[in-house]
Amino acid sequence: MKTLFLSTVCAANLAFSSIAWSHGDMDWSNITAEKNQYLDIPDLGSQVGLISRQQEKQIGEKVLRQVRQQLPEIQDAWLEDEINQIFASIYSQTNMGKPIALVVVRDQQINAFAVPGGLFAINAGTITASHNIDEIAGVMAHEIAHVTQRHYSRSQEAFKGQGLLALAGLLAGIAVASQSSDAGAAVMLGSQAAMLDRQLSYSRNQEREADRVGMQYMAIAGYNPESMADFFELMQRSSTQLSYLPDFWLTHPLTAERMSEARLRARQYNVKINNSLEKQQKFELIRWRTAVLGGYANINQLKSLAPRNSAAGLALASYYIQQSQYQNAKDILDATQPTAIQKTLYTLTLSDWYMAQGQYAQALQTILPLYRIAPENRAVALKLAEIYILNKQPNDANKILTSLSSRFPMDTSVWQLLQRAEDLRVDSPVRAINVLRYRAEVQFWNGQEEEAIKSLLHAQRLNKDNEALKAQIEGRLKQMQDARQLKI
Ligand SMILES: [Zn+2]
Repeated sequence: MKTLFLSTVCAANLAFSSIAWSHGDMDWSNITAEKNQYLDIPDLGSQVGLISRQQEKQIGEKVLRQVRQQLPEIQDAWLEDEINQIFASIYSQTNMGKPIALVVVRDQQINAFAVPGGLFAINAGTITASHNIDEIAGVMAHEIAHVTQRHYSRSQEAFKGQGLLALAGLLAGIAVASQSSDAGAAVMLGSQAAMLDRQLSYSRNQEREADRVGMQYMAIAGYNPESMADFFELMQRSSTQLSYLPDFWLTHPLTAERMSEARLRARQYNVKINNSLEKQQKFELIRWRTAVLGGYANINQLKSLAPRNSAAGLALASYYIQQSQYQNAKDILDATQPTAIQKTLYTLTLSDWYMAQGQYAQALQTILPLYRIAPENRAVALKLAEIYILNKQPNDANKILTSLSSRFPMDTSVWQLLQRAEDLRVDSPVRAINVLRYRAEVQFWNGQEEEAIKSLLHAQRLNKDNEALKAQIEGRLKQMQDARQLKI
């Protein structure tokens, strides 16, 4: 049964909010007041379900490595940070510990999934199909609620014993196979996917609970709960493409009652929503960049939008750089007057342009002022480190990357750059050992556990007399060996 799309944002809800949309600028005093008003989440105790929180964390990390090994990911520090910021603004409303990771999957279909322990994945298609940040936030809030309510560990059949890892592997395998043109493999995997749908599906009650709890998170974080209902309706209207990865609404059964219930529930919130121009500008930067990096942007549409829309312009400039059409990219960048919201992405894109031209000194001049203002910005720090490497300044790169690696120990882009920087430090007596250590981290977090252990064993053999390094390598080797043998 089709439900009519109703554009029903209450006038009262449109009042401009004093709560800034971005997580970093959030006014927490307002939020605490609202928290008491909205937060009504069943207390689950600490040991409800079949697996403990510690086991969930180990599972989450293991599944992250499998997902990285098998699912195509969009790796772009700026985009990841923006998506993470939306995610963190919702996740921080929960009592959960630190999330493992949020992965942006290079897949055009609308989908998202969550794994115990705090691993979340959102398809690029979910981002490009959305109309605003609140709709993306709605999908995330719903997934986060499944995890906080521990729906996975409470579903008896699917997640006993090795079930979860096997399912995660199958899920990833299906995603990869669905992108190949092998019809035979597709048919076989189609039947596996049908089985998987049943095993991964949440119950109707779990869906209702995830909608309800997710909307509370949204409201407290300053997002419009109606956007969750909007997105469900959008999903129902969108014609589903043929895909062998279980569809979001197969794993999250979307019935007419659930949709009308979600709409009614959303209307009960009287949230001060931030509908600022800046927030929508940020959304457009995110959506267009996702489309270009995912490889499914409509380039003609981008070209016609670019002269009057800087977000489209910046995405088109990145596309031209990818295509080595440097003059076209430079024409756009020269004509762009970035707003405050667009400044970081503009600077990163201009740096990319100089790097692609081999003009590293200019690239440094472009990025350094931004780094001095915001040294904690991961995308900016990574870009600066990369330019330092290209400009043969490995010690400067190393300093930035070492600090990043302790903040983001699962970030393969940090370890990759560290490996490259170390390789240039020809005067270092432990260069070869460190190159192997950093390579081991890249391999490990990309799901190549065996190769990672081999790299570390090699590093161990090369290390003759450095006691501190010896202890470090031994400790890490033990952790990796335990992780490889992890039986859940
Ligand atoms: Zn769901």
